Amino acid sequence: MNYKKLALLAVLLAVVWAYLAFDLGQYLSLQALKAQQAAIADYQASHPVRIVGVYFIIYVVATALSLPGAALLTLAGGAIFGLLWGTVIVSFASTLGATLAFLMSRFLLRDWVSQRFGQRLDAIDEGVKREGAFYLFTLRLVPVFPFFLINLLFGLTAMNARTFFWVSQIGMLAGTLVYVNVGTQLARLDSLSGILSPALLGSFALLGVFPLIARKLVEVVRANKRYARWKKPARFDRNLVVIGGGSAGLVTAYIAAAVKAKVSLVEKHKLGGDCLNTGCVPSKALIRSAKFLSHIARSQAFGIGSVQAQFEFADVMERVQSVIKTIEPHDSAERYTALGVDVIQGAARIVSPWEVEITHENGSTQSLTTRSIVIATGARPFVPPIPGIDDVAYLTSDNVWSLRELPKRLVVLGGGPIGSELTQAFARLGARVTQVEMADRILMREDPEVSELVMARFRAEGIDVRVSHRAKQFLIENGEKMLIAEHAGQDVCISFDAVLVAVGRSANLKGFGLEDLGIPVGRTVETNEFLQTHYPNIYAAGDVAGPFQFTHTAAHQAWYAAVNALFDPLKKFKADYSVIPWATFVEPEVARVGLNEQEAKEKDIPCEVTTYGIDDLDRAIADGEAHGFIKVLTVPGKDRILGVTIVGEHAGDLIAEYVLAMKHGIGLNKMLGTIHIYPTLAEANKYVAGNWKRAHAPQKLLAWVERFHAWRRG
Ligand SMILES: Cc1cc2nc3c(=O)[nH]c(=O)nc-3n(C[C@H](O)[C@H](O)[C@H](O)COP(=O)(O)OP(=O)(O)OC[C@H]3O[C@@H](n4cnc5c(N)ncnc54)[C@H](O)[C@@H]3O)c2cc1C
Repeated sequence: MNYKKLALLAVLLAVVWAYLAFDLGQYLSLQALKAQQAAIADYQASHPVRIVGVYFIIYVVATALSLPGAALLTLAGGAIFGLLWGTVIVSFASTLGATLAFLMSRFLLRDWVSQRFGQRLDAIDEGVKREGAFYLFTLRLVPVFPFFLINLLFGLTAMNARTFFWVSQIGMLAGTLVYVNVGTQLARLDSLSGILSPALLGSFALLGVFPLIARKLVEVVRANKRYARWKKPARFDRNLVVIGGGSAGLVTAYIAAAVKAKVSLVEKHKLGGDCLNTGCVPSKALIRSAKFLSHIARSQAFGIGSVQAQFEFADVMERVQSVIKTIEPHDSAERYTALGVDVIQGAARIVSPWEVEITHENGSTQSLTTRSIVIATGARPFVPPIPGIDDVAYLTSDNVWSLRELPKRLVVLGGGPIGSELTQAFARLGARVTQVEMADRILMREDPEVSELVMARFRAEGIDVRVSHRAKQFLIENGEKMLIAEHAGQDVCISFDAVLVAVGRSANLKGFGLEDLGIPVGRTVETNEFLQTHYPNIYAAGDVAGPFQFTHTAAHQAWYAAVNALFDPLKKFKADYSVIPWATFVEPEVARVGLNEQEAKEKDIPCEVTTYGIDDLDRAIADGEAHGFIKVLTVPGKDRILGVTIVGEHAGDLIAEYVLAMKHGIGLNKMLGTIHIYPTLAEANKYVAGNWKRAHAPQKLLAWVERFHAWRRG
């Protein structure tokens, strides 16, 4: 705590001490006030202006210091100044005092609270930004909530002081008026408790819930306005129609069928979507073959003198297809039909908020009315408008799987997860790969040392990693394909046989009715925290909704979309993104959950960093995979985990322990006290917890324990 804070705290404590020590509270009782009423009236007659100033200051100080007696002071305001002036004076004095209390709470405690509760406070601040004024207003309307607590608690949030002032002023007006009015009848009042009769309390409670009801009504009116131009069917064919049979759509339909809703799942291409057909599954199958080759390439590291791999690239790509075929039944129409889903092959189009039109492959159409719709149309590779790109027959993650001949020289455009995974896989399969990235490192979302480790490995494997290279133009000269990239102000020319574009993915937003319905979109479909679009009965999940683009987040959102779509307005849930893990399946593998160091710095979240080098782990050494690290971010002085990055063999599996820990509030102490099998890679999780513990060993206590042992030795 700095000097200014200490000084303020000292003043506050001194005033509170004086209040208690001199029993100043005795002057703030109804009896005292009544006894002094005549004297106060005399003083007012002789000093009509001064009494306003004195009263105002006393009121502001008492409220600012959260001293008891505000109700009595308000009564006094009515007794001294009458209804009109009493209300005006009390209203400003109470608001000013409340705002000072709010500011003091912020000044003294906000830093401490944000250190302790970091990310959780972020979520509260976000909520306060959106609806804080509204909630403050309702709380102010009902004078049964202790106002001093409201002042102190709101001071801990990020609410703007001006907003706090005006919302408080208006919100407290009704209560002020009632108390001041009672104050004008002070002589007839016997006790303070008499003011808040059950009837009056009931009226205040009604007043308090009124804004909530009003807001609900406004929401309903607004929603009705949106729906006004459509005719709502009297009955619906379905409870839910899901558009898109990828990870998000499949899980949505599955959940709907599981809770016995009548659900149709419409897919225009292949069930399983991107993940099964062109994404996770083929890429991981390819990576597996490539990894096998990389082991052969370093056979000596395993004590095997020489091994030679003989293979056809086409066979590897056929294996990829056979893996897809093996997994396909998990996402098949047969399986989902058996689960109770009506699976429809065709292109869906939303024609009204309750109607979906489906065009089948043979051109016939079918129309379904439905209570709710979930949009799960996914995303596609983004192709940047680089001059000449259309002339070089570029590959993307959509069509790379049909290659049967390995390109000798491959340029991979993009240093994100997909670009990096495919770069390494193709290089290991024998292509000469140049990876071109505009930023100064690949895997930009991860901490710099993560990128450094991966780039070092890529380069050691013969990959030409070109960072800080901005692709400018594609050219074909004398049949030679070339990429011109700008690097350090100079043009660099990279020749290639094939180019794979992997610079990001764009949500599929067009061609299925969003424009006609006027559903707002940005990079993704706009949704609220319940995953509702502009029309509350139309939801979105998966890549089309963002903010993440993973299969597991698509499935996670699918639960919320399905449940909310089927049970709103009875019950709906806000999508919870508090603990989202992911992995990039390069070697060394990179996995993360929660914050990393660069994000903590960007968001100014204080944290402690503990690391453990996997190069020291027995199992990693035995496996010939002694590389990488675990980095854990914790709340300063606490074992609560804010985020974890793992780089190394099976990082994506190892991180699961932290995902569970973060989700359920398990700290490093408990992880340290948990048995991990020897020798496994998972032991690294325990060792990093051990490193944290060592750094927090109670040195003073240990010094005493040392003395104790010395004494016991005699
Ligand atoms: C190369 C690559 C590797 C990846 N690796 C991983 C990984 O390892 N782990 C991971 O978690 N994620 C990975 N992903 C991301 C993952 O594939 C996606 O996040 C996931 O597939 C998104 O699922 P979705 O349901 O939102 O969309 P999709 O799977 O794209 O499904 C959308 C479906 O909607 C259909 N559709 C669209 N419009 C209509 C319409 N009008 N009517 C009917 N049907 C329609 C499409 O045909 C498609 O089948 C990878 C992606 C790629 C490209």
